[in-house]
Amino acid sequence: MQYRHLGRAGLQVSELSFGSWVTFSNQADSKLAADIMSAAYEAGVNFFDNAEVYAGGKSEEVMGAALKQLGWRRSSYLVSTKFYWGLTDGVNERNTLNRKRLLEGINGSLKRLQLEYVDLVFCHRPDPTTPIEETIWAMHNIIESGKAFYWGTSEWAASEIVQAIDLAERHHLHKPVMEQPQYNMFDRKRFSGDYVRFYKEYGYGSTTWSPLASGLLTGKYKGGIPKDSRAALKGYDWLQDRMTDKERLAKVDALQPIANELGCTLPQLAIAWCLKNPFVSTVITGASRVEQVHENMKAIDVAPKLTSEYLARIDEIFGFNEKNEEDD
Ligand code: NDP
Repeated sequence: MQYRHLGRAGLQVSELSFGSWVTFSNQADSKLAADIMSAAYEAGVNFFDNAEVYAGGKSEEVMGAALKQLGWRRSSYLVSTKFYWGLTDGVNERNTLNRKRLLEGINGSLKRLQLEYVDLVFCHRPDPTTPIEETIWAMHNIIESGKAFYWGTSEWAASEIVQAIDLAERHHLHKPVMEQPQYNMFDRKRFSGDYVRFYKEYGYGSTTWSPLASGLLTGKYKGGIPKDSRAALKGYDWLQDRMTDKERLAKVDALQPIANELGCTLPQLAIAWCLKNPFVSTVITGASRVEQVHENMKAIDVAPKLTSEYLARIDEIFGFNEKNEEDD
């Protein structure tokens, strides 16, 4: 496993990390979660991603119980959480990055995770209804209180991030240092067009999500929706159209000859492809079982074999024209 700096921050993250969205609590209890995290940690993963909203707070509880059971040295791993959607209905409790919610939110997350601090904390989405200064001050205060060490954004527009950085610098506050964008062969807009200039200029770190497009890029949805897959889970039926879309499945199918030539599996190819992007600090992988972790971690051996010729073939399959995207 290689470790990459989180953009210009001093912190180093394993190039592959692990996140608990969907899986923890829904598919994995704390015992299985500990086994999954252990497989990742043994492969060199040092970053475990979570969010307040995942499984309505239960994902943090499961990760907290797993970490307690694992008993790792606290300085040997990084944990994150994220805020925006909230956990309970009520004024000031949903879809907000206001000061009250963020300062209350971090206390709840730390309790559920059974930790004194998280390493990274994200604003899970932008909140156009709260002045950005208020959010920046709240994130600064969370860091100053020692409850988190670095803060970042998730799915914010480049212009919003630039505004946050500028304001933080002007007021000598802790500025955001990383973004958590979706990034996979289907969804790559965060690293094209204006974003490329933005990542280059600001040296912003990135912890990217859904490298397998929720499992679509594994090829396992070819014959329909497997009973034991994410798209078959109660509450995730919204994924089903995407997973059975003929055009998308044809693109996944077209990757198979490349995987065969490289001697790897489709999930390994899809994760290795994410690793090739120098603006990616860490690719957050997901898994519902230990075997998937073992398989996915081997993507690090595939990445060096993905030459520019292979990358061009993949671009062609997905109809991606770098020149056009850069000009957008
Ligand atoms: P992926 O796109 O990689 O999907 C992971 C899922 O694919 C697994 O849970 C599993 O689902 C299936 N899978 C994984 N490996 C294999 C394999 N080798 N063979 C077959 N199936 C496999 O990642 P996620 O969508 O889970 O995203 C990763 C992390 O990113 C999340 O946990 C979260 O931390 C973060 N994230 C952040 C978001 C944000 O808004 N900031 C949004 C979404 C995710 P199954 O077995 O159930 O089919």
